[in-house]
Amino acid sequence: MTAEIIDGKAFAARLRATIATDVAALKAKTGHTPGLAVVLVGENPASQVYVRNKAAQTQEVGMNSYEHKLPEDTSQETLLALVQQLNQDPTVDGILVQLPLPAHIDSSLVLLTIDPDKDVDGFHATNVGRLWTGERALVPCTPTGCLLMLKDYLGKLDGKEAVVIGRSNIVGKPMAALLLAESCTVTIAHSKTHDLAAVTRRADIVVAAVGRPEMVRGDWIKPGATVIDVGINRITLDTGKARLVGDVNYAECAEVAGAITPVPGGVGPMTIACLLLNTVTAFQMRRSI
Ligand code: NAD
Repeated sequence: MTAEIIDGKAFAARLRATIATDVAALKAKTGHTPGLAVVLVGENPASQVYVRNKAAQTQEVGMNSYEHKLPEDTSQETLLALVQQLNQDPTVDGILVQLPLPAHIDSSLVLLTIDPDKDVDGFHATNVGRLWTGERALVPCTPTGCLLMLKDYLGKLDGKEAVVIGRSNIVGKPMAALLLAESCTVTIAHSKTHDLAAVTRRADIVVAAVGRPEMVRGDWIKPGATVIDVGINRITLDTGKARLVGDVNYAECAEVAGAITPVPGGVGPMTIACLLLNTVTAFQMRRSI
């Protein structure tokens, strides 16, 4: 079997087009433009690229983008005051504080200071609780993107065996919650799981979010399963060139799976598109639309 490739780049482009249409309709209906504030502390080069991309895509779909760039030595007090100011600002629907923050700042405290109704990353404990209890929630962007691709490819997910490898608050746990809400039978595997290959072999759906290059091998996959590779790992080839690979051995797994996301071009592009989607959701939730 040769797997169908789930093209996240094309999916994300379609999703952004839909969001742009929705934003135009919301502007016409309410007279207000959804706005996303992104806060970056320090000079981390990867974070600077992410923030630039987020701002550009926010504007492309017709929303307002507010960037707040603060120096590396910004005090926790100053950052918390900015978050509180953004919480109060009626033009701001979504607030994203780019992680990682410098070591002298308590990231958990900053994330908990964001108004849960503007928490477009979905990291606030209130949104985590809403997600697990089935209330309308802002859900972390990466697992939301994975779920949209799974539903687009598979249709209804109920009754499917899903194995999520990784239990982080950002990907693994919310992914498991979303699949459970779709009535999958969900297993969360992690670094202490015994015989991970045997666990993964049961799955109709495998989501790998580990951060270990090409860890999931072809003989871990049930024939026809759908494989979503969240991992982004930079490896150096024998030639000295750098290359991005996922947590899944793509060549091996594509021989067995029914469908698979590539790296790059799979889950990655969906993450920012889902941030825009969350900003629209936050706009609607705050206005009870
Ligand atoms: P994390 O380090 O917070 O969590 C990794 C998880 O993997 C842990 O729960 C750990 O228990 C598990 N794990 C570690 N070694 C394992 C092993 N040998 N067997 C089974 N499980 C093991 O990482 P994260 O933030 O969840 O990110 C995971 C990967 O996804 C990383 O490569 C990251 O770069 C990538 N990522 C991609 C996107 C995207 O937009 N595509 C977004 C977030 C994260």
